Amino acid sequence: MEQLQKAIEERGSVLSDHVIKVDQFLNHQIDTNLMVEIGREFISRFQGHDITKVLTIETSGIAPSFMAAHELNVPLVFARKKKSLTMTDHLYTSSVYSYTKEETNQITVSKDFLSSDDRVLILDDILANGQAALGLIDVVKQSGASLVGIGFVIEKSFQDGRDKLEEAGHRVESLARIKSLEGSNVTFLNEVTE
Ligand code: 5GP
Repeated sequence: MEQLQKAIEERGSVLSDHVIKVDQFLNHQIDTNLMVEIGREFISRFQGHDITKVLTIETSGIAPSFMAAHELNVPLVFARKKKSLTMTDHLYTSSVYSYTKEETNQITVSKDFLSSDDRVLILDDILANGQAALGLIDVVKQSGASLVGIGFVIEKSFQDGRDKLEEAGHRVESLARIKSLEGSNVTFLNEVTE
């Protein structure tokens, strides 16, 4: 997705060979026009699957997932990272190790919002080692819902998240795939070479 790659190149900053900062447009300040396009692109990639819910994890997954869910006209459910006082039981839970915060969170989703009748699309902002996605997949499994696929705005293809998710049999779609951040340069892995 050209517009997204341009945003990463021009407005992202490489913090190390492994970490990119995208708070200018994705996970702190949000470029709403870009989010609309991201939502549309996700939907075009997962067309024809009768998706009934989009599932993400707070906080950074919410903006892009909202746009996709809105385009699909289905609810967006986000997993919470901290148990809310009003959510005490009747929950699906899973453990997720956070790549950036270096801590493990118990993620929770109310059983009211996912059931075996659902066809779920999981979306998130960034794929690194796949821990957040694996936690969300676990939640979907517990609910008995069908998982249509998993989408990311940005994939760091030099880390092993995609391999783990594909080995587990899931379809993965990433709108921008970063091959390398070495030398403070962003290099993309473009799937289609014509
Ligand atoms: P994973 O669960 O795939 O190991 O890590 C993904 C999560 O960690 C993302 O949702 C994102 O919040 C955070 N993350 C991983 N790598 C980066 C990065 O390079 N930059 C930023 N800003 N967040 C990252």
